[in-house]
Amino acid sequence: MAGPPPVIPPPSRSTWTVSDLECLVLRVPTDQPEADGTLAWSATTVVVVVVRAGGMIGMGWTYAGAGSKAVVEEQLAAVVLGADPMDVPGITEAGIRACRNLGRPGAVSSAISAVDIALWDLKARLLHQPLSALFGRCRADVPIYGSGGFTTYDDATTTAQLELWVGEWEIPRVKIKIGESWGTNPERDLARVKLTRSVVGDAVEIYVDANGGYTRKQAVRMGRRFGDEYGVVWFEEPVSSDDLVGLREVRDHLDIDVAAGEYGYDETYFATMVAAEAVDCLQVDVTRCGGYTSWLRAAAIAGSRGLQVSAHCAPNLHAHVASAVPNLRHVEYFHDHHRIETMLFDGALDPRGGVLMAADRPGHGLALRTSVAAEYRVR
Ligand SMILES: [Mg+2]
Repeated sequence: MAGPPPVIPPPSRSTWTVSDLECLVLRVPTDQPEADGTLAWSATTVVVVVVRAGGMIGMGWTYAGAGSKAVVEEQLAAVVLGADPMDVPGITEAGIRACRNLGRPGAVSSAISAVDIALWDLKARLLHQPLSALFGRCRADVPIYGSGGFTTYDDATTTAQLELWVGEWEIPRVKIKIGESWGTNPERDLARVKLTRSVVGDAVEIYVDANGGYTRKQAVRMGRRFGDEYGVVWFEEPVSSDDLVGLREVRDHLDIDVAAGEYGYDETYFATMVAAEAVDCLQVDVTRCGGYTSWLRAAAIAGSRGLQVSAHCAPNLHAHVASAVPNLRHVEYFHDHHRIETMLFDGALDPRGGVLMAADRPGHGLALRTSVAAEYRVR
């Protein structure tokens, strides 16, 4: 068999070329200490990529480490500059190949994602189309679920957050973190799920996310109680998402849906996870998986196995692409990213009513507030 056909550089068909690429790193402190089952943090790093062509600006970002900026500048800039912004998958593929010796997952794929998103945004703006129109829509709006419920919260804070999501914003789905301290505080996990049910009432779907904090049998025991006693319907990363056998085992023993995939950095990862029958719903994060180009492919991989996809975090980036796939379950409306995206970007979407309506403006419809960004810029 012949080798893969050369994809880069494709012959330019438009009169546009990418003339400029800029990358900035912002560090935004959390509003209070946050932790899940297996990690604690006090700030979120945002790596923003801005590209220009034909007098238009395209912007993407990823929630990743500052190291992604080095990947953008040292590996990807040479591929992007001078390329035709109409051919985003080709540019992204060239960027992936340029990073071969660095290894794809983590900071590299996050950098590739931010650049891919910026290029799609640029293309849509050059064509004066919303991204949802460029991709083609399957639905007018996308359902969301409220996500936060950190293990560091006291009951009053958890209650206030749940009341905001359900009472004020009318989101009928909520998710809290469990698996506190690597699963060593199961009684508090149960108490917090009980609290959640008492606050949101019977009509709201409750999800839990252990972030891989439980062992396999512990996850089965806990999952039974979450489901039977409190009606939980979604159990995210009950065990490590690297433990595909364990996810499958938990799935086989519970009626609750098992979900994972947020650490998927390439299409092979998603194909392997669904082939292992490890999840009931595949989570895919556009800021990690390789941008819109790979997100759409990952959704197709899930669909090929009869699975739905759920968009992980970065809700304002997911609204358009999530509207483009038939097998969407929902978009995660994450507390930290709500704070950051409404603060940093003009045009952030309104979560009220429990759906996001992709903006009817060119691109993703967001613009960086440069004066706000300057306050948080570290590189
Ligand atoms: Mg998660």
